[in-house]
Amino acid sequence: MAEGSPDNKPYHMDEVCKGLFLGSRDAVLTLKGQHDLLKHSITHVLSIEWSKPDISALNLNHKFVYINDMPSADILSHFEECIAFIDEVLTSSGNILVHCMMGISRSSTIVIAYLMHRDKITFQKAFDLVKEKHPRTEPNDGFVDMLCLFEAMGCQFSSSHPLYRQHRLGQIAPDIQAGSQVPEEFIAADPAQESASTEAQTVYKCRKCRRAVFFQSMVLAHITGKGQTSFSWHKQMHPLAVTTSPSSTMDSSISCTSLFVEPVKWMEPLLVGCLEGKLCCPKCSSRLGSFNWSGLQCSCGAWVTPAFQIHQNRVDKSIRRQIVQSNHQHEDV
Ligand SMILES: [Zn+2]
Ligand SMILES: [Zn+2]
Repeated sequence: MAEGSPDNKPYHMDEVCKGLFLGSRDAVLTLKGQHDLLKHSITHVLSIEWSKPDISALNLNHKFVYINDMPSADILSHFEECIAFIDEVLTSSGNILVHCMMGISRSSTIVIAYLMHRDKITFQKAFDLVKEKHPRTEPNDGFVDMLCLFEAMGCQFSSSHPLYRQHRLGQIAPDIQAGSQVPEEFIAADPAQESASTEAQTVYKCRKCRRAVFFQSMVLAHITGKGQTSFSWHKQMHPLAVTTSPSSTMDSSISCTSLFVEPVKWMEPLLVGCLEGKLCCPKCSSRLGSFNWSGLQCSCGAWVTPAFQIHQNRVDKSIRRQIVQSNHQHEDV
């Protein structure tokens, strides 16, 4: 990885677009690099690293984001703050260097995400643009997946987005497989015990006994696969199709016949000590679906990991309305 620079510079830094530079840690720590920061009128530095470089002597506006260059590191959750920081600099005519250790994976991921967001372009297009200016651009595989996810989210980060929530669940899957309990924050409240909300909500009920089993807001999303043959985000044609409900894909020949949901409170006893199993109605015990921390394949071909899969034909959808007159009551229609 620590190869020499092709142009014999002791560091790596390239201007990707006006005012936005991408580089390695050496660009801020070597004398030559620091000299060039001055030459390019750099006003801000964004360090995406595991340790903060001490550049206090340079008197620049410095932001540090801790992140490891591991495919599993959740760089996606930092997109919003990094994009906002870069945007503020560029819209106020400043010049910014975004760097990591080598200028290969972490910093290029952030710059690609920034261009996707600003110019509303696909991952592939932004990647090509950045790669052309900064040839060592090479986000690791996990970061590529997160950039594709970001594209499917409309190049706009939201922690409540059904795709991001599925991604977060995927991040705890290795811990659960290693024997950890599912953290409380990942367990959705039981709609049968939920105190009434002021807004009407779509609720899914067991088709057999009518017990409420989850809200629409607990349904997660995945990028749709290409039928049963194979699935790879990397090879997918753009724009990416996303589904949060059965058959809502962009290609009508591919359909999702299952719903994937967050783990719900009533599932807890079924999950204890099990990495896979059946999901049965807590009232009448009829089979609603399956769960598997290693993932299950959707009818569209996508692998959803982990999967809390509910068969569409085992549940009915209804609207829960708040009865305004009496507190903590509701009716489902
Ligand atoms: Zn699907
Ligand atoms: Zn039931």
